[in-house]
Amino acid sequence: MPSCYLHDGLGVNRPTMPSPTTTLEVRPTATPLPAAEREQRIRNPAFGRVFTDHMVLIPYRAGPGWGGGVLQPYGPISLDPSASVLHYGQAIFEGFKAYRQPDGGIKTYRPEANAARFSASARRLAMPELPTARFVEAADALIRQDRDWVPSEVGHSLYVRPLMIATEAALGVRPASQYLFLLFASPAGLYFPKGIKPVTVWLSDEYVRAAPGGTGAAKCAGNYAASLLAQRQAEGEGCDQVVWLDAIERRYVEEMGGMNVFFVYREGGRTVLVTPEQSGSLLPGITRASILELARDLGFDAAERRVSVDEWAAAVREGRMTEAFACGTAAVVTPIGTVKSRQGTFSVHGGETGPVAAKVREVLLDIQHGRAPDRHGWMHEVWAARTAPAER
Ligand SMILES: *Cc1c(COP(=O)(O)O)cnc(C)c1O
Repeated sequence: MPSCYLHDGLGVNRPTMPSPTTTLEVRPTATPLPAAEREQRIRNPAFGRVFTDHMVLIPYRAGPGWGGGVLQPYGPISLDPSASVLHYGQAIFEGFKAYRQPDGGIKTYRPEANAARFSASARRLAMPELPTARFVEAADALIRQDRDWVPSEVGHSLYVRPLMIATEAALGVRPASQYLFLLFASPAGLYFPKGIKPVTVWLSDEYVRAAPGGTGAAKCAGNYAASLLAQRQAEGEGCDQVVWLDAIERRYVEEMGGMNVFFVYREGGRTVLVTPEQSGSLLPGITRASILELARDLGFDAAERRVSVDEWAAAVREGRMTEAFACGTAAVVTPIGTVKSRQGTFSVHGGETGPVAAKVREVLLDIQHGRAPDRHGWMHEVWAARTAPAER
């Protein structure tokens, strides 16, 4: 393994120890953040700026395949300037959360689903697939090591960020022969500290996020690079977020920023949650999939179908559509209050949060925080409260 993977910023060889719960080599930091400072950072985590004490690295080489992983102090990694990720963008990532449970234990939400999507993203970018067991093990090991970083307050969580980059030092345009899987974590506070507030969205008819046959269904870094200008344009129009339309007709709603979208219809006395069907260019969100299943538990109907911008405006005008909301791991559920485009502006549910969005959000948070039974088997135990005193 190249020494860069092992660099821990301390420049000394420190003893390593086997961990009882992981096949990763565990090299704990000699200088964890003092508890008082950690508590302070957990209380005020500007999203994605504060990281826990450790990270996981697993190298890959064509031939031998995935190597042994290391859990080591969080810090910079070194890359050759010719590393192919820096030129041709083979970079994918994931995001999911660990939640403190009422008994003090810790669980993650559907990590195997993230592992499966990570593999799908890897395939699309001609990158190697990390086995699900190793993906989940890496997250479990990091969360156990840094368990004191998992917040206890409701709505707070530890956001886990796995990623993979092409590290081969070579400028030839082809899939790289060397990769690095990394996983680190960041405490996350309430996405909306002042309570959920509906967003205003801009319908982008100038830029598209992804096209059929492209990489839209993969969680790859390049999709985000391609989205930033449109997001900036949306902000210039006084909006919070950009809503993406299909690349060909620029008529059908795909997603909102980095979140999937749901429309709430009243049809024949029933409440129907409609989300755009998987077009090949929208990202199949795990929150989206969860809400499709939860809808039935809540007595709603659910459907995946295309919804055009014209249909959105008409359904709201005619009272057939009562709400719209976006969903994703980071913000869970975000109501869409106002829709703006070159054609004009309209509001959904009077620009206010509707009862269906509020209910879906509450039900998801209750499952994640262990306040409601986990009927779908979505929660993955990382740290059991009852073993905590003995193991600590
Ligand atoms: C990650 C992501 C989502 C939401 O996926 P979740 O698994 O629900 O967090 C939606 N759209 C895009 C473009 C994304 O990158």
